[in-house]
Amino acid sequence: MESEHFKAAELRCRHCGRAGVRRELLDVLETLRAKAGPLKVNSAYRCPEHPIEARKPKPGFHTRGLAADLVPLAMPLRTFYDVVRTEPRIKGIGVDQAAGYIHVDVREASESILWVYRNGRAVVTTEPFQEVGNG
Ligand SMILES: [Zn+2]
Repeated sequence: MESEHFKAAELRCRHCGRAGVRRELLDVLETLRAKAGPLKVNSAYRCPEHPIEARKPKPGFHTRGLAADLVPLAMPLRTFYDVVRTEPRIKGIGVDQAAGYIHVDVREASESILWVYRNGRAVVTTEPFQEVGNG
């Protein structure tokens, strides 16, 4: 599966090349792209055997084709975060300020959840940018 601005190759599992991104995620990626300009996809679909998923107690939303890790190429991460927050279909938002990307997912949920990555671990927060300082 691919869309106007996202090619099948960048959405596939980087470990085995399998495809698995869902249309509802791709629609949200296009919406973000329209508001934020070009986005680099660090990771979208990941199969359950992908090394990052394999070491989790339970596979995450990437394995269901519902998550992507995005690097904004045309604006600062903080500004991109504000754009991400305007999209109600995004229910999971994880900010990795050190690595310069934001995880977004379109899980089924009534409330959204926010977290930051600290020392490689996801830590739930309500203010991702205050949590990690002003950097
Ligand atoms: Zn794989």
